[in-house]
Amino acid sequence: MPAPAAPAASTEPVQTDALVIGAGPAGLFAVFQLGLLELHAELVDVLPAPGGQCAELYADKPLYDIPGLVETTGADLTERLLRQIEPFKPGLHLGQLVTDLRWDEKRRRFDVTTDGGRRFAARCVFIAAGVGAFLPRAIKLDGLERHLGRQAFHHLSQAREHPGALAGRQVVILGGEEPAVAAALALIDGVDAPASVTLIHRRDDFRAPAPLLQRLAQARAAGRLHVAIGQPQALLDAAPPCDDVPALAPLSAPDEASPSQPDAAPRLRALRLDPPDGGPIELPCDTLLILQGLSPRLGPIADWGLELERKQLAVDAATFATSQPGVHAVGDIVHYPGKKKLILSAFHEATLAAHAAAQWLDPSRPTHLEYTTSSPRLQRLLGRSGQAQG
Ligand SMILES: Cc1cc2nc3c(=O)[nH]c(=O)nc-3n(C[C@H](O)[C@H](O)[C@H](O)COP(=O)(O)OP(=O)(O)OC[C@H]3O[C@@H](n4cnc5c(N)ncnc54)[C@H](O)[C@@H]3O)c2cc1C
Repeated sequence: MPAPAAPAASTEPVQTDALVIGAGPAGLFAVFQLGLLELHAELVDVLPAPGGQCAELYADKPLYDIPGLVETTGADLTERLLRQIEPFKPGLHLGQLVTDLRWDEKRRRFDVTTDGGRRFAARCVFIAAGVGAFLPRAIKLDGLERHLGRQAFHHLSQAREHPGALAGRQVVILGGEEPAVAAALALIDGVDAPASVTLIHRRDDFRAPAPLLQRLAQARAAGRLHVAIGQPQALLDAAPPCDDVPALAPLSAPDEASPSQPDAAPRLRALRLDPPDGGPIELPCDTLLILQGLSPRLGPIADWGLELERKQLAVDAATFATSQPGVHAVGDIVHYPGKKKLILSAFHEATLAAHAAAQWLDPSRPTHLEYTTSSPRLQRLLGRSGQAQG
C-alpha cells in the first residue's frame, strides 16, 4: 500500500500533475492510468483508509463481476488496486475532506484545499467521489467536539492509531449495526485488550450478519462484553482533570506524524444513558466509539460551479471531462447516458479520462496506444523492465 504522504511543512501547496479526489476503485484505478501516462497523482479521501464503498460497505462480502477475478471481496480488490499503483508512488492523504477547488489563472493550476488545511497545486483534477464523502452519521451530544480525536472516534482504526485509547480503557461503542457489532467483537478478541467494552443501542435488536450476531450473543452470555439499551443523553467530563489516568494526545490526521503532547482539554469520564425503563444511568467511559454508520454527502462538490445532472456531475462520455476544462470525473459521481454504477464502468471511465487529461495538458502528445504486454516504456514505469516481448 502506498505510504501516507507526509504533510506539507507549511501552507506551501503540494505540486502535482493530477489531484484525485476519492480513493475508491475509480480513484485508485485513475492513479494507475495516469501513472502509465507519466502523470504523477496525489490522492485524497475523507476516510481513514482507501477503498471507498468496497472497503467501507462490503469489505468481507464477495464480488463476482470484476473481469478476470472469478471471486474477490471489497477488501481484496482494494488491496490489489493499491498494489497495482505502488510503482507510481502516489501521495495518499487520508482523513481529509476536499472542501475547495478553484482554477488559479495566473499559475495555470487548480488550487485545492482540504478541511485539514492541506493545499495542492494541481495541473488537472480527477473527481472520483462516488456517492459523496462518507461522513459519520451525526449524533447530538453537547461537548462531543472537544473529545473528538482525543477520546471519541468515528472509526475503530482512528482509535487504534491513537496511543493509549484502547488498551486497559473502558470503551463504549454507540451503534446497532454491523460496524458497531464488528468493532465490539474485534476489541474483545483482539490485541487491544480494553478493560471493558460496552455496546449501546436504542433497542436490543442488532443488525449484522448471522455469524456476528451469534458471536455477540456468546460474548454477552460469557460476560466478555456488555450491552446497554437506551438513548445517550450527555457526556460527563472529569473535573478537575484526573491525575491518575494519563491525558490522551489530540488525534493527528492519519497521515501525519503523531505528536503525543497531552493537552488541557477536559477529560471524558462517563456517558449518561436514558434507558427505556427506569432512570438515567452513568456508564464509565474512557473512549467513545461512535459507529452509527456513515452517510455519503455530495457536500462541497456541489459548490464548485460544475454542471450537475440529477445531483451528479455531468460529463462527456468520451473524455469524462466536466463542464470545467481540466477537471475530469469518474465512477459513481458521474452521469451520462447509459451510466451504470459498476466498478467495471469506473475502470473504463478512469482510463479514458486519464488519456483525455494527458491530451488536455499537452495537445502535442502522441496519442497512439501502447500495451503493457509489449511496451518497454510501460514496463519500465511498472518496474518490470526487460520483460517486453519486442
Ligand atoms: C453493498 C454494495 C455492493 C456492491 N456490489 C458491487 C458489485 O458486486 N460489483 C460492482 O461492480 N459494483 C458493486 N457496487 C457498486 C460499487 O461499489 C461502486 O460502483 C464503486 O464503489 C464506485 O467507485 P467510486 O470510486 O466511484 O466511488 P466510492 O467507492 O464511493 O469511493 C468514493 C470515495 O470518495 C471519497 N470522497 C467523496 N467526496 C470527497 C471529498 N470531498 N473529499 C475527500 N474524499 C471524498 C469518499 O469518502 C469515498 O471513499 C456495490 C455497492 C454497494 C453499496
